[in-house]
Amino acid sequence: MSDSNLDRRSVLRRVGGGFALLVLAPVAAAVEGCGKKELSCTSTTGLTPADVQTRTALQYVDHATDPAKPCRACRLFRSAGEAACGGCEVVKGPINPAGGCSAWAART
Ligand code: SF4
Repeated sequence: MSDSNLDRRSVLRRVGGGFALLVLAPVAAAVEGCGKKELSCTSTTGLTPADVQTRTALQYVDHATDPAKPCRACRLFRSAGEAACGGCEVVKGPINPAGGCSAWAART
């Protein structure tokens, strides 16, 4: 093996490493973006059976079926920030700002 071969290998390794970085960095960023968890406020842990029944009866869902009537626009919603589950005066348990139920009431 000559010194020129070693130099070529050395150069190829460096170029290959740089190429891998160029290719893999955006892929890693995309994967990380996909890994962002969507807010889920569906847990009924700790609720009484009556509270769970009310939640079910009022058809609470994590994503409002009517986009014009999300929990964040309901006067019964108690926000804990857009990235966190809030609360509700009538539906007990965690409430998604994007959620909804049949008791939605416009703010006055
Ligand atoms: S009443 Fe229904 S729509 Fe209004 S905040 Fe509570 S769960 Fe959301």
